[in-house]
Amino acid sequence: MSSRLALFGGEPVRRDPFPPYLTIGEEEKRAVLEVLDSGVLSSFVGSNDPAFYGGPRVRALEADWAAYFGARHAVTFNSATSALVAAVGALEIGPGDEVICSPYTMSASATCVLAYNAIPVFADIEDETFGLDPGAVASRITPRTRALVVVHLFGHPARLDPLLALARRHDLRVIEDAAQAPGATYRGRFAGTFGDIGVFSLNCHKTIQTGEGGVAVTDDDELALRLRLIRNHGEAVVDGGMAVPNLANVIGWNLRMTEIEAAIGAAQLRKLEALTKPRIELAEYLTGRLRSLPGIRPPAVAADSRHVYYVYAVRLDEATIGIPRDRLADALAAEGIRFYRGYMKPLYLQPLYQQRVVYGARGCPFTCGHYQGEVSYAPGICPVAERLYERELLFTDLCRPPLTVGDIDSIARAFEKILDHAHELRA
Ligand SMILES: *Cc1c(COP(=O)(O)O)cnc(C)c1O
Repeated sequence: MSSRLALFGGEPVRRDPFPPYLTIGEEEKRAVLEVLDSGVLSSFVGSNDPAFYGGPRVRALEADWAAYFGARHAVTFNSATSALVAAVGALEIGPGDEVICSPYTMSASATCVLAYNAIPVFADIEDETFGLDPGAVASRITPRTRALVVVHLFGHPARLDPLLALARRHDLRVIEDAAQAPGATYRGRFAGTFGDIGVFSLNCHKTIQTGEGGVAVTDDDELALRLRLIRNHGEAVVDGGMAVPNLANVIGWNLRMTEIEAAIGAAQLRKLEALTKPRIELAEYLTGRLRSLPGIRPPAVAADSRHVYYVYAVRLDEATIGIPRDRLADALAAEGIRFYRGYMKPLYLQPLYQQRVVYGARGCPFTCGHYQGEVSYAPGICPVAERLYERELLFTDLCRPPLTVGDIDSIARAFEKILDHAHELRA
């Protein structure tokens, strides 16, 4: 190993690029060709007709997904963003309502609330699970609170028991954003199947993918119907007789998945476990290598949880290592090891929330007459999320097949080398 940091002109720990994550194989190709040969690329219709439920591949993927995750219903969408929007709509959330969200997540985990003119209220997260902190959630509950959006970030389940208990006590509905966590479990059951509705993503960055796509699961028959109405022109379909007790939020869009994505999705679902196990093995190996390094905190895994490592996130204790996080990230990059800094800027600090411009230019839904609350998006409202974003968190996607233990060794060696030279980076 070179004794000089690559940042200062030394030989990097690694010159070879890491192999890409490729999961599309013969199974997916064959499935897509069958769809093309059939000539039926989608067969949804937006009316009260059997084809309201989609074509054979869409329905097959939904049956497979529901069976795999142990849910009564699975409803496919063209994205998880669409599935989250439909979930908020299905729960009849609307103007004047508040929904408690995590600030440290992909934007759609909170914009789904704005989509129905309701108000996202951000509660802080825990710095080990990265999920909503039950104490912080409790402090945000008001008479207007209707639901929680619980995110299973990076593939680790949020602490569901206390969150679900809070929801029960205050009569709140629960949406799980399990976009990053298919296959994660909490007390032996799949994350995404605890709330009223759980949402998974099949976008191209996720563990299994269809390019774009999403799936919502629920055990509730009426919620499943409402999800399907919002997916597919509910306003027209209810006129044809598909009755729901309440028309709230039944305006439907076209959020439908095509037969091609559904065919790919069924093949990908069959690979989920085979793609997840090596992620966990590589992650556990990397954790074993990093654990003894001072100031580096590898991901914690709660005793009752299965972490599926959508990404591998480490926290830095700056006071111990004495190097700013961004300096360490620069040094890792120079050694040939790609770690990203901070993940998401806490959502409430982003322009949409700071300027409160959503629908039109007159401040709706925040200034809408139905809203009686006073939500705050001030800096400092979620100190853990801000600290992770600004100073502590580094994450990488270099923790998945076809990487080998040898590849992971190069990551660990880069950390070791940099910490050996920490004094040079402090200067
Ligand atoms: C990817 C992701 C989404 C959105 O998924 P799309 O399928 O791209 O719409 C939502 N929430 C989280 C936490 C995600 O990581």
